[in-house]
Amino acid sequence: MTELLDDFENEDPFATAGLRLTVDLTALTENWKDMARRSGRARAAAVVKADAYGTGIEDAGEALYMAGARDFFVATVDEGVTLRLYAPDARIFVLSGIWPGTERRFFENDLVPVISSEEQLAFWMAVLSEYGDYPCALHVDTGFNRLGLAMDEAIALADDVSRPASFAPVLVMSHLACSDDPSSPINRHQLESFRRVSAAYEGIDSSLAASGGIFLGSDYHFDLTRPGISMYGGEAVSGMTNPMRPVVTAEARIIQVRTANAGQSVSYGHSVQLKRDSRLAIVSVGYADGYMRSQSSTGVPLRQSVPQGGQAFIAGRTVPIAGRISMDMTIFDVTDLPENAVRAGDYVELFGKNVAVDDVARAAGTIGYEILTSIGLRHERRYVVDDESDAI
Ligand SMILES: *Cc1c(COP(=O)(O)O)cnc(C)c1O
Repeated sequence: MTELLDDFENEDPFATAGLRLTVDLTALTENWKDMARRSGRARAAAVVKADAYGTGIEDAGEALYMAGARDFFVATVDEGVTLRLYAPDARIFVLSGIWPGTERRFFENDLVPVISSEEQLAFWMAVLSEYGDYPCALHVDTGFNRLGLAMDEAIALADDVSRPASFAPVLVMSHLACSDDPSSPINRHQLESFRRVSAAYEGIDSSLAASGGIFLGSDYHFDLTRPGISMYGGEAVSGMTNPMRPVVTAEARIIQVRTANAGQSVSYGHSVQLKRDSRLAIVSVGYADGYMRSQSSTGVPLRQSVPQGGQAFIAGRTVPIAGRISMDMTIFDVTDLPENAVRAGDYVELFGKNVAVDDVARAAGTIGYEILTSIGLRHERRYVVDDESDAI
């Protein structure tokens, strides 16, 4: 009890946080450099949308800038404005493009809009006639059917002699729909389409590959690659051993350790009945924290296709979730750990070096991207360099 009181008096918010996220900036920048090497002759940008995949755009952006990244992609103009403070002379592309009323924020922060529809293009031309020369990027759809100018329009635009002289794209890009699956023929189709686009825009940079595309090989690299998930340590290619270093460690505190007898049931819906006398650790993380209910051990539809639920790591072992995850709490079965190995106040690793974020994702029926970007609203964050995270 006195130890608990000591903890409460500690002024370091990280030390007392129920949920904490450690971001290893060295692993992040090493992963970026690794993806830059894998990009061969192409330059590697850094994709830092969604608050740098939940790691914090300020610190992650600055670390990547210090490591040499000079091209960044963000989703929104707000993200671009924030990043500009940490990446002073970098080129920052805004993937969602430009909207009427946001021009000044683009110009004042030197952000480059990615133009991806006829409407945005028309608006951009009007902006240029009012403000003069300003760079943009063009996003061309080669088969994703999400964003992008149609191929024919993009190619016609390249040859259009009547287009304003101030129209100065600095990058033409497209996005692969199936790059997580190297065997998909869609990759080749998109590559061939993009080659036509790239040829029409000879003289300016071309970019096709995100993380998955980088692993598809040099044909896909063009001038600039756009790694995201791989920098953050996530899997970009299904079924391949993930070569990246883990970047993010999420931990949650044990609120209570309790015993329960064989035959008793646990959590909402009593979906799991204990087969033996058990010790249960009640941990301060739940679906409101992005720890998705779908990875509950039982009582959720997903368990019919993925038999085992999620796991966490504590005291040198992985431990399974017991029953349903609730809004703010999750129960882990710690019966297999020595009796005094777990106590209230200890932290369990939800994912990190010992539990891959993608394993959590698989148990939840989703992808690492969604886990990284959902977790963390209530987490206290800290940043470490040179792998000090081993010390926590
Ligand atoms: C998110 C995104 C990326 C990064 O993708 P990863 O799979 O995370 O590497 C690259 N390009 C575009 C257009 C994106 O939307």
